[in-house]
Amino acid sequence: MSTTAKKLTPDAAIDEKDDLIDLVGLSRAEMEAVFAEIGLPKFRVKQVWHWIYHHGVQDFSEMTTIARGLQAELAERFTISRPGIATEQTSTDGTRKWLMNFPDGKMAEAVHIPEFDRGAVCISSQVGCTLTCKFCHTGTQRMVRNLTPGEIVGQFMLARDSYGEWPSAMEPRLLTNIVMMGMGEPLYNYDNVVQALRVIMDEEGINVSRRRITLSTAGVVPMIPQVGADLGVQLAISLHAVNDDLRNEIVPINKKYPIADLLDACRVYPTAKNSRRITFEYVMLKGVNDTPADARELVRLIRGIPAKVNLIPFNPWPGAPYECSTDDDIAAFADIVNRAGYSSPVRTPRGRDILAACGQLKTASERERKRV
Ligand code: SAH
Repeated sequence: MSTTAKKLTPDAAIDEKDDLIDLVGLSRAEMEAVFAEIGLPKFRVKQVWHWIYHHGVQDFSEMTTIARGLQAELAERFTISRPGIATEQTSTDGTRKWLMNFPDGKMAEAVHIPEFDRGAVCISSQVGCTLTCKFCHTGTQRMVRNLTPGEIVGQFMLARDSYGEWPSAMEPRLLTNIVMMGMGEPLYNYDNVVQALRVIMDEEGINVSRRRITLSTAGVVPMIPQVGADLGVQLAISLHAVNDDLRNEIVPINKKYPIADLLDACRVYPTAKNSRRITFEYVMLKGVNDTPADARELVRLIRGIPAKVNLIPFNPWPGAPYECSTDDDIAAFADIVNRAGYSSPVRTPRGRDILAACGQLKTASERERKRV
């Protein structure tokens, strides 16, 4: 398989803007506050917000409804930034991955997974991850830090830049959906994720609706009701096992929040009621969690929850302790879940050639860091 990779942003380019306040990722209230400091009234926030998030401009001089003098004043104090791009790779199947570098030298990855007439951008919430799920490559990387709201929003903006999908109103578009399924556990960076998604959902800006945003969690149970109340986005649960013994081993957060508690939280999650289903992700590990008995137990466990089950063939990585289930075993598993009335698509691995598939987001960032 051939891929293309190019080096884009020189690392030094980021530094000059050090003492400017980055407007990307601020809440409206925060933007009002920093504008008020230089005597700017509220309506300026509305104006600038529209330029930044509807039109995607990165330079105040492009804000043509704002007088030149004020443009210059804004540029003296503020910046509209994007994460730096260390590499951008496009897979033979069209999947595109960005390895981003942040001003402190930390790196994370974002991925675009195109479908025929739409596509999802998979966004990271942390650099590394504190969870140590056994089958996940990111989980073997030390947690480095949370991403800021600006760095989270910036990932989606960078993807729009890359595909030329500004302004927000353009149709049709390739970037229709967002999945918080990149590196990190979004519910362990709760405040920043909420602030970022609120900016992304803002109707006068990027305007991606909550129905097109899916937040995936390994199961930080106490935060799940809050996600419903604060965001109301689609919920995905990384389940991967149907009994606590196995789940304790492969998704260790289960020791703190066992399966029964996790499923109780799902039962009362608001979107589950509105006929918007919860997605259960289930990675298919050969000889570990993939028998017909497992499938039947899964169906029993989720009974009563409007749900769909996403079967993810295990994506291998160097040194991984597992293998992917056979196609036949996956098909048999899917069939049992399907007959019980749950849609059970098998997720086609995307971007494996550029290590962009689920659970593979680590190698490139580590390698790149060593090189730098
Ligand atoms: N921490 C959150 C967000 C990450 S989502 C969560 O766990 O939900 C990434 C998804 O890919 C999760 O469902 C994860 O379990 C799955 N995954 C991790 N490693 C994988 C691998 N090697 N093959 C297939 N899926 C994997």
